[in-house]
Amino acid sequence: MVMLGLWCLLGGCRAVPPAPVELVELSALDPTLHFDIRYATAHNFTGRPLYAQARAFLQRPAAEALVRAHRALCQQGYGLVVYDAYRPWSVTRALWDAASSAARREGFVADPAVGSKHNRGCAVDVGLYALATGQEVPMPSGYDEFSERAKPTYPGGTAAARAARDTLRRALEAEGFTVSDQEWWHFDYRDWPRYPVLDVPFEALPRRAPKADVGAASCGYRAGGK
Ligand SMILES: [Zn+2]
Repeated sequence: MVMLGLWCLLGGCRAVPPAPVELVELSALDPTLHFDIRYATAHNFTGRPLYAQARAFLQRPAAEALVRAHRALCQQGYGLVVYDAYRPWSVTRALWDAASSAARREGFVADPAVGSKHNRGCAVDVGLYALATGQEVPMPSGYDEFSERAKPTYPGGTAAARAARDTLRRALEAEGFTVSDQEWWHFDYRDWPRYPVLDVPFEALPRRAPKADVGAASCGYRAGGK
């Protein structure tokens, strides 16, 4: 673990003290999470892969909070699908360069001059899968759809899709995450100001095997995992 960031140097105080940087691989924390890492594929709005590896990390407290939300959802017949989590800063730069001016203006992509909470390992993009089938649950919009339908308050679409979106939001909010105004899938972890913007590539982060007993203590559903 490494302590990064400045705190109260020369009067430039941050509101909170920095926390130790420890990016945890989510698949190692709970193998019943599903993954659909779109930026490791061409199936994203840029039309090309931006990650060399399909992996997902969060800072440890955020990762553990996400797993608690996942296990609470399991009691309701759902599990989490992770689309994106920690994102190196250079990828935020590439997304900004690829985005339309309208997408930038509407806040669908983060300004690299500021950095994204994804760059801090404290934001995650998630949806739901149904435990019974392993299939993703339809939401009022697709992931990374830059439209009104992506807003967490969008009143249209089917009642079932809105109910699924709201179930996801309640589970994440109960564990200290806040949903984006623009994107039902994007959640920020409350301690994000305590972590620095990072540009560590996935390839530089160690792989850890999942703990053997974790899956059984969680949803108990793994077939069909992505
Ligand atoms: Zn996001």
